[in-house]
Amino acid sequence: MSPIDDAEAFEADDPVPLSARAMAARPAPYLDDLNAAQRAAVETLEGPVLMLAGAGTGKTKALMARIAHLIMQGRARPNEILAVTFTNKAAREMKERLSKTPFHLYEPLKWMGTFHAICVKLLRRHAELAGLKSNFTILDTDDQIRLMKQLIVAANIDEKRWPARQLAGIIDRWKNRAWVPDAVPVAEASAFNSRGVELYAEYQARLKTLNAVDFGDLLLHMVTIFQAQPDVLAQYRRWFRYILVDEYQDTNVAQYLWLRLLAGGHHNICCVGDDDQSIYGWRGAEVGNILRFEKDFPGAQVIRLEQNYRSTPHILAAASGLIAANKGRLGKTLWTEAEGGEKVRLIGHWDGEEEARWIGEEAEAMQGGSRGLRPYSLDEMAILVRASHQMRAFEDRFLTIGLPYRVIGGPRFYERMEIRDAMAYFRLAVSPDDDLAFERIVNTPKRGLGDKAQQKIQTMARANGVPLVEGARLLLETKGITGKGAKELAALLQGIGRWHGAALDATESHIELAERILDDSGYTAHWQNDKTPEAPGRLENLKELVKALEGFDNLQGFLEHVALIMDNESEDHGAKISVMTLHAAKGLEFPVVFLPGWEDGLFPSQRAMDENGLTALEEERRLAYVGLTRAEEVCTVSFAANRRVYGQWQSALPSRFIDELPSAHVDVLTPPGLYGGGYGAAAPAQSTVEEAAARADVYNSPGWRRLQSRSASRPVSQPRESRTVVIDAEAIAAFATGERVFHQKFGYGIVTGIEGDKLDIDFDTSGPKKVVARFVVAAGNVDDVPF
Ligand code: ATP
Ligand code: MG
Repeated sequence: MSPIDDAEAFEADDPVPLSARAMAARPAPYLDDLNAAQRAAVETLEGPVLMLAGAGTGKTKALMARIAHLIMQGRARPNEILAVTFTNKAAREMKERLSKTPFHLYEPLKWMGTFHAICVKLLRRHAELAGLKSNFTILDTDDQIRLMKQLIVAANIDEKRWPARQLAGIIDRWKNRAWVPDAVPVAEASAFNSRGVELYAEYQARLKTLNAVDFGDLLLHMVTIFQAQPDVLAQYRRWFRYILVDEYQDTNVAQYLWLRLLAGGHHNICCVGDDDQSIYGWRGAEVGNILRFEKDFPGAQVIRLEQNYRSTPHILAAASGLIAANKGRLGKTLWTEAEGGEKVRLIGHWDGEEEARWIGEEAEAMQGGSRGLRPYSLDEMAILVRASHQMRAFEDRFLTIGLPYRVIGGPRFYERMEIRDAMAYFRLAVSPDDDLAFERIVNTPKRGLGDKAQQKIQTMARANGVPLVEGARLLLETKGITGKGAKELAALLQGIGRWHGAALDATESHIELAERILDDSGYTAHWQNDKTPEAPGRLENLKELVKALEGFDNLQGFLEHVALIMDNESEDHGAKISVMTLHAAKGLEFPVVFLPGWEDGLFPSQRAMDENGLTALEEERRLAYVGLTRAEEVCTVSFAANRRVYGQWQSALPSRFIDELPSAHVDVLTPPGLYGGGYGAAAPAQSTVEEAAARADVYNSPGWRRLQSRSASRPVSQPRESRTVVIDAEAIAAFATGERVFHQKFGYGIVTGIEGDKLDIDFDTSGPKKVVARFVVAAGNVDDVPF
């Protein structure tokens, strides 16, 4: 029975099951270890509650206790509680924690997850209200861009000047603000050469025909449905008796509206957040939502927590000192009862590889207990980076020394080419009408179905108003295509038919089916016959993909999971050091934290600042605050004077955030790259704050700068075989004058002219040059460029 159906049955019955009432009479151990303010937040069950407090003050802990309390008090059954978490991982962890308490015995929490995960469930139930079928596909960015490209070309717009990625960014921004095409304000009319709104409308129409949604649609459709269908909204208002939201500071307008609509009846909403940890402004999050809470929900109880339970006093003071430099903040005091502990450690390295080597050695030493500290397990350690390209140095190093590690949200397994291809085959098995999936694999592996043949399929499909698979069938029937291509196409269509049949009747396990699809389609053989060095890795990844299917009941469940995945963590056990981005680390805590790469340009990120100036600088600083406050006992900040980014050496100055750390809470360690690595005189093993200040001067001295610029052209540490940047053809897209771009050899610059496949670029470091467009990507895509 579906949750809503049994909700209705349940409502007709007794609102509080006997078991819950019996449990309510039992003591509440989850209340015992809360402080008075947390207890107030937990026990104020009726009406709106806002918990606004700094990092590590126990907001999430209190939120969990509140869920327990709601259930134990018999106020709601677990599946009548809507709990929004920031990542799928957080949702899983919370469910795990709850499952250890007695009340899990009678029902799991079904409605705990990210906004997207919850909305996809809701939208499947009400797809028809959005003009979709319930088996709609969720597009990834790649598909989205491909679709937009088609629309741009069809609208006779020069795709080189007006690239699809730019349109995707604009539409995403509009969706985050919950604007359907008709609701985009006039002030936005000039977007995308004044064609933005029109293309947005076409894009939405096309998605409907494809029975597909993109990520932004999940929220947008649900908001639209709730607004247009009061009876549906009323049903959910009754059903979700209590609403809880963690990390509220990072909600965007669409998410905010969605929450406001759902909580509109009973006002039983509890949001927790910290304005100092708002780090998704670049994705449309509005920290103003927090500040507006009291206005939206009159009579809201605002609870402030000030005691930090996570970090030692030095770590807390360093973080508080840093964030004090931000102007746009509410400001709060944090204190801790904890005593002692190490200062935040600061260390400079010669280059990124040395930084990775040092952290690897430090992690090994700390396992045995070093410097009089207790031994730490690798599970207790994390490396938090600003940009995902930083991860590679750690992966390389840890593989060399055999240090077990896990990358969370890192190399984006599901975004790799072979994984996307395989997934497109799976998507076709689930729904053969998935045109985008068909387009992706029709000639992968090569089947002699080049552009011309594909065009014919498209034309046939369009002329008959049918999906591409059907168009292809008609084309074969009418002999519109002959020879090898025809034979291959017929085989592919038969394959799709067979796989779809197998997926439907489910006689064979979905894992066997997946393997068979990859074999039958020739995709596995394609990589087996491929002689490039990447081929074995790709085959490994395909095996990994099939392995990942084991956790699911069927292909559709798996595809949904992948579409929603925000973090990818390995299943196998054993202690591992975690490597992840600062963004992914929100809400987490680790006894030992390493924060590498604190260099101006990398952190704060030059790219973010180029785009958003001072606002971005403050957001970067909040990100630094998030990083520092993840640490419980030992926190090490580091920077490198030289770093290889996408195969190119760059030099940098230490981050301005380093100078903002209050020196009384920082210990400066010997920078081995500068002193131990053969440069200059030997330095003392451990230096004082005064020396740190002196060293800061060294870093800013003309001599140091010269040293840096020299090393930029002549790396001192032996680089391993140089990697070439492989740029995805999609990423090359096209460029516009004035656009900021990245070239694999010359680094960042601004496009000043375009001539065929050549670009005139004014490079930041090497001045104006004419280069081939193939080696250039939009600066905004640099993180996405695979190695
Ligand atoms: P963040 O802002 O980083 O998400 P948070 O405010 O959600 O932090 P929690 O993760 O809930 O903080 O708690 C931080 C740590 O403090 C956890 O280890 C938690 O168990 C502990 N803690 C919270 N409240 C208490 C308390 N009253 N007594 C003892 N420990 C507590
Ligand atoms: Mg939290």
